[in-house]
Amino acid sequence: MIDKGTSQWEKMSTEIMSGMKEWAAQHPKATFAEIERETMKRMAQLQARIMEAIVREMEAERAQEPVEVLRCPECGAEMHPRGKRKRRMQTQGGQEVTIQRGYLVCPECGAGIFPPG
Ligand SMILES: [Zn+2]
Repeated sequence: MIDKGTSQWEKMSTEIMSGMKEWAAQHPKATFAEIERETMKRMAQLQARIMEAIVREMEAERAQEPVEVLRCPECGAEMHPRGKRKRRMQTQGGQEVTIQRGYLVCPECGAGIFPPG
């Protein structure tokens, strides 16, 4: 299950927290607004890294499952897997998360899709 990555997540959050402590030590006169901006930036980074880790683990688990047949949204033909592609997503915090997704191509009309999810 997903909890095998817990220690990795703890390590990430510990890194972010200690980075924040360091920043605070280096900016003893930071204003409330500066502190807020800095913490938000780091929380957004942490969020993006956690999301990447979750997606990666889910993908790894999904790879063990039998592949379901997907039909082309354009013409209804059976889609064929065509390797993996990088897909860039944006979190609401404006951080970029890069994930690897299986990519499907239609042999009939050439339409390409990422499986839903
Ligand atoms: Zn098609």
